[in-house]
Amino acid sequence: MKNQSFKHLQVLMLLVLLWLLPLSPITLAQTSPSANGQYQTLLKKISCPEDLADNGSYRDYGLYHEADGDYCGSAVPTRGYWVYVAPHWYIWQDKVLQPNQTRLLKQVKLKAQTLTLEMIYFKPHKAWAEQILNYAAKSIQDLESLSGRAYPGQNPYPIEEKADMGGLLGLASGAGMHLVSPPKGTPWTLVHEVVHIWNAGTEPAWVREGQANYLSWLIMQKNKFPFVGDETLPAFLRDWQEVRGTEDDLLLEKYDELPQGKAMEYWLLHHELFGSDFIWQAFGFALDHEDLQVADWKIFLKRWTPQDAQKLLSGWVNTGPYLVKKAEDFGPLKYPVSGAR
Ligand SMILES: [Zn+2]
Repeated sequence: MKNQSFKHLQVLMLLVLLWLLPLSPITLAQTSPSANGQYQTLLKKISCPEDLADNGSYRDYGLYHEADGDYCGSAVPTRGYWVYVAPHWYIWQDKVLQPNQTRLLKQVKLKAQTLTLEMIYFKPHKAWAEQILNYAAKSIQDLESLSGRAYPGQNPYPIEEKADMGGLLGLASGAGMHLVSPPKGTPWTLVHEVVHIWNAGTEPAWVREGQANYLSWLIMQKNKFPFVGDETLPAFLRDWQEVRGTEDDLLLEKYDELPQGKAMEYWLLHHELFGSDFIWQAFGFALDHEDLQVADWKIFLKRWTPQDAQKLLSGWVNTGPYLVKKAEDFGPLKYPVSGAR
C-alpha cells in the first residue's frame, strides 16, 4: 500500500534527528554505574570531572573504542561500555544480554583497518541477523570506496536489534546503530543507517537524509540487495508526484515537514545531469561543511555547470517557480539512471 510506504519513508527521516541521544536513552531512574545492570565486569573506573559539562551528571554512552588506550589522563581499555556517573567513568567489559538475545561478530576488511561488526539480536532472528551483517559489511566497504572517505565509525561497531523503537526503524551514528526487528528492519533501512555512520553530523536535514536515502539506494542497486514490498525508489517518486504543485509540495528547506520523495527526485535529477562523480563529491562536500548553507550549495553546483545554478534551486530548495522540473529542462540528459522510474 502506498500510504504504508510513505509512512515508512517519513519515519526514515526522523532517524538521525534523535541521534544526539546516546545509544541507550537516559532515564532519570537510570543512574547506577552499570546502567542498572546492563553491563558487567568492571574493567576500570577513572576520574574525569571535566566531562560533566558535555555529559551531565549521568550518561550511558554504550560501546566505545579508545584507540589510544588513554583518556582523561588515565590508562583505559581500548574496548568497553562506558557509563558516566559524575565525576567518574565506569568502563565495563560486557553488555548483559537478555536470555532471548545473542551476539554475532563479523570481520570486515576496510582500507586502513579490519572492522569488527558486533550484532546483538533476538535468537529467533538468526538468519535475518546474518543477512543484515552481510549487507552492512558490503555497504560499508562500498561507501568507503565510492566516496573516497575512510570509515569514520567506531571499531568494533555495535548494531543492536530493537523490538520497538517507538515508530522509528533505525538510528545510527559513528558510535553505533539500532535497527528495528524484522520485517520492518529491511535491507534498505540498514543501508540508509550505514550512510549515517559517515553523515550523522551533516546539516541541514534535507542534505543528510536525502543523501542517506539516495546513496543507500545506489548501493542497494549496485549489489542487487532486495527491496521489500513497496519500499522502492519509484514509490518514493510517486509519493511526490501526488503532492507536486499542491500546498504539500514543500521546499527542501522545509525538510522537517517531510518532502522526502522530492528530495529523492532532486538527487536523481542531479545524478542524471552530472553523473555519479557529482553524487559522491556532493557527499564529501556536505561532510566537509557541517552546517551547509544554500549559498555553499550554489557554489558547489557552479563547479558542475556553466549555466545559472540558481535554476537548480528555485522551486526545489528556494522559494520561487520551478525553473527546472526535470533533468531534460536543464540540458541534455548525459547520465540517465537506470531502474529509477
Ligand atoms: Zn536517516
